Amino acid sequence: MVKKPQFSTMTIHSFKRVIEEMIQRIMDCCLLGPTRRFLNRCSLYCLEERHPWVQRFYLLLLTLGLLVYYLAAAPVIQHLVHRILHPFIAIMTYWSFYKACTSNPGFISKENVRKHGQMFDYDYIFYEPKECYTCLFVRPPRSRHCRLCNRCVAKYDHHCVWLNNCVGYSNHHYFFYFLICTFSLCFYSAYMCFVTLWTHVEASNMRTWQYLHPTTRLRTNVTWWQIWALQIHSNPAATGLLIFTALAGFAVFLFSLYNLWMAIRGYTSNEEFKWDELKYSIHSKELTSWRKELKEFNQSYIAPSRSSRTEKPRLTKSAKKPKPHTTQTLSSSHEPKTKLISTTDSAHELTQRHVQHESENGEDREPLVSIKQIRNIYNEGIWNNLKIVFMPKKIL
Ligand SMILES: [Zn+2]
Ligand SMILES: [Zn+2]
Repeated sequence: MVKKPQFSTMTIHSFKRVIEEMIQRIMDCCLLGPTRRFLNRCSLYCLEERHPWVQRFYLLLLTLGLLVYYLAAAPVIQHLVHRILHPFIAIMTYWSFYKACTSNPGFISKENVRKHGQMFDYDYIFYEPKECYTCLFVRPPRSRHCRLCNRCVAKYDHHCVWLNNCVGYSNHHYFFYFLICTFSLCFYSAYMCFVTLWTHVEASNMRTWQYLHPTTRLRTNVTWWQIWALQIHSNPAATGLLIFTALAGFAVFLFSLYNLWMAIRGYTSNEEFKWDELKYSIHSKELTSWRKELKEFNQSYIAPSRSSRTEKPRLTKSAKKPKPHTTQTLSSSHEPKTKLISTTDSAHELTQRHVQHESENGEDREPLVSIKQIRNIYNEGIWNNLKIVFMPKKIL
């Protein structure tokens, strides 16, 4: 019997699922059939298709925001540092966006599959030697076939609709630069808008103004709320930009922190989601033993994914063989025990070798009761994890 998720055990992905479910329920209750179907189609198009509309929307928003800033706020800013630094950050934002959109995320081809295969080991939890039925080679560890790009991507993180590109091994750092530049520009613009409005408040000596009550005719000193209401009236563009950039900057900042937290712990977004699912399955007692159930979890996880639409979840001969997953085995997987060969037979050969290796070490020793029993072999310590993200090796 599957238990309902408990809030205490929820990670951000579970939270996201709950939010999505809530939005769906609200839409079901409040919207009529045709409107709901239209919105569903729109969201499916935005999230499940490859198109440049979100990129164009971002560029439009960025350019309009900068236009408003240079018309409504910049003329008041006299300080030379701000006059140079703000355009510099704006240019860096465009540059990082361009690089993140156009850079190769680490597409795997038959020519470079061997090199990608040498980067990481299979953990035999989420990754094991399996052929990609579209690209026709054995997928290297941590890679995944992106349905939208229709190619396998090394150290797949996610397909980003903002960038209309995958985020993977080779462009993860550009993704971070883009996030950092975006929230820096937002916060900087918000601060500059505040300085502009404050300069106006000081210049008008607004804090000494008095408010005349329309009925009682009593005079009182103006409150802060009244001063900001006057600002909205006198400079609506700068006030609107201040609110928008502060909120957008905060949202992007939180998202950046979340991504950094995953990078530090040696997870990609794709893996974080898988670990979350695994944790929930253990917590809800769907998964109680190492051997068969963990294997089935791995396969059932792959089956309903996006990639399954173009890439049927066929199991190779080797994949049908249940394999144990013990802490001892996972710990030992740091030792390079596999060499990737880009043929179909290699997947079978590698899995056979792994089964043999595990049976030598003993199997199914203890029940699976906590996610802590499973180690993430891709966590190589904070600095090494960050080095992998920010200083990737060049693989052509
Ligand atoms: Zn592929
Ligand atoms: Zn993609």
